[in-house]
This record gives sequence, C-alpha cells and structure tokens, in this order.
Amino acid sequence: MTVMNDGGPLCTFEVVTLFPEMFAGFVGTSLLGKAIAGGLVAVHFTNPRDFGKGRHRAVDDTPYGGGPGMIMSAPPLAAALQAIADARGPAHRVLLTPQGQVFDQARARALVGQSRIVLVCGRYEGVDDRVGQALCDEELSIGDYVLAGGELGAAVIIEAVARLLPGVLGCGMSVADESFSAGRLEYPQWTRPEVWRDRAVPPVLLSGDHQAVARFRLREAARRTRDRRPDLLARHPLGAEEIDALREETDAAAPAGRPGKKRPGP
Ligand code: SAM
Repeated sequence: MTVMNDGGPLCTFEVVTLFPEMFAGFVGTSLLGKAIAGGLVAVHFTNPRDFGKGRHRAVDDTPYGGGPGMIMSAPPLAAALQAIADARGPAHRVLLTPQGQVFDQARARALVGQSRIVLVCGRYEGVDDRVGQALCDEELSIGDYVLAGGELGAAVIIEAVARLLPGVLGCGMSVADESFSAGRLEYPQWTRPEVWRDRAVPPVLLSGDHQAVARFRLREAARRTRDRRPDLLARHPLGAEEIDALREETDAAAPAGRPGKKRPGP
C-alpha cells in the first residue's frame, strides 16, 4: 500500500510493518491527511511478509536458547529494507523497540532534517537483535511500556515529525511556544465562555495589555513546568525573567483551574 508519492514531499516515511492496514485511518485524517494530500508528506508501506520464507512466507522463528514466543527474523526485514532502498533510495532507518532511546520532542526536531525515514515495526516477542545493529541507524522507544507492535510507535513518530515540517500546521498555528519547545510546558489556555462552572478566565487575558499577557504566560509556563515536570527544569533551569515573574503577586492572574484539583462532580 502506498499513500502519496509524487510532488516532492518534504519528508517521506517508509513503514515496514506486517499490518499496514492499521494505518488506514491515520494517514487519511486531519493534519497528516492534509499534508499527504498536499504533497508535503508521503507515507509508503512495505510488508516483510512479501519477503518471507517458504510457502507460508514465514517472517519469524523460535528464539535461540529457548523461551516463549517467536522472534522476527533478519532476512525478510533485510529484504524489505533493500527493496525500499532500490525503489526510492537511501533513508534514515529507525527500529521501533522498547529498548531504544526514548523518543521526545528534541528527537522529533532532529528527525525533521531527514528527507526519508524508514520505521521498522517489530511484532511477536521482538526482532532479531542483529536487525538494529546491522540495518538501522538508531533504535527508538516511545515510552517505558511494552506494546504488541511497533505500529503505534511509528504513527507517533510520523505525526510528531510531520507537524514540525514547514507548511504542515495550518496558518496561525505555531510550534514556537508549545510544550517542550524550550524546556517548558506550555502556558495554560482558555476560550469562551468567560465564566464556566464558577471558574473565571484570568482577568489579565481580557485586559488587552499584550505585555501583561506575555508576562502572565511566561510565569504560568514556568510555574506549570516547576509543578508538573521538575525534571525539565533540571535540564533547563529557570531564567532570571521567569524567577522574577514567579515572585510576583499573582492574585489578578490566578488560573481558573489548578492542576490536580479534583472535579467536584459531573
Ligand atoms: N520482548 C521485547 C522486550 O521485552 O523488549 C518486547 C517486544 S514487543 C511485544 C514487540 C514489538 O513491539 C517490538 O519489537 C517493538 O517493535 C514494538 N514495541 C513495543 N513496545 C514499544 C515501545 N515502547 N516503543 C517502541 N516500540 C515498541
């Protein structure tokens, strides 16, 4: 299955998967669907089953040393990767595995520099260890939990990278202030109605004072990061402006809903 190939995409994703049908809705929907339709992004799928062994096109085998389950074997994956290279040229190759480096926004930004990215999805009890070593440029995990396959991880990486490509986000949308863009969570946001269930939008946001709004947002991003993700602050310490802003009296700008506050009822 191939989705969009022509028109010089900014990034082409090649997904190596036993279950390309898992991506059917994903590649046709919302931001990614539009990016593909507009020719900014292309996604191709290659099924290692097409390169499997014997009449049953086997792609897995029992683990050396014994143990439960089956392991995806190297030759069909190598053949799939070779077919992709032959058809469309070299690419940065990523193996999805819970044992890889954890994928984050910085890694997404780094991958934006790649014009072609292959995402190899494992299944069963995993993939022959030599695939990562001999055939891939890096191994990425999407978090410290174990999924049944790499397909959801591939989708996560595709969406996180694609939305950073120029022109993919709709006009007016920006990645500049987003969570993790500068080692901070984003400031909280509100929309109409102005008061909802006795919770009012912070008055400063209605003031029309752009400087005051910017300062409020700087402070709330710093506060939220400090309260929810101190690990980010350890890597990106608070700057002088943020420290000053956090010291300020916040009465007028107190957020309507505090993190962790219990819902009173439905
Ligand atoms: N036995 C392996 C282990 O304990 O490390 C787990 C194999 S998992 C059941 C099967 C496949 O799902 C993996 O080869 C990988 O491609 C994918 N997978 C599972 N969890 C993942 C995660 N957190 N990040 C990326 N891929 C994951």
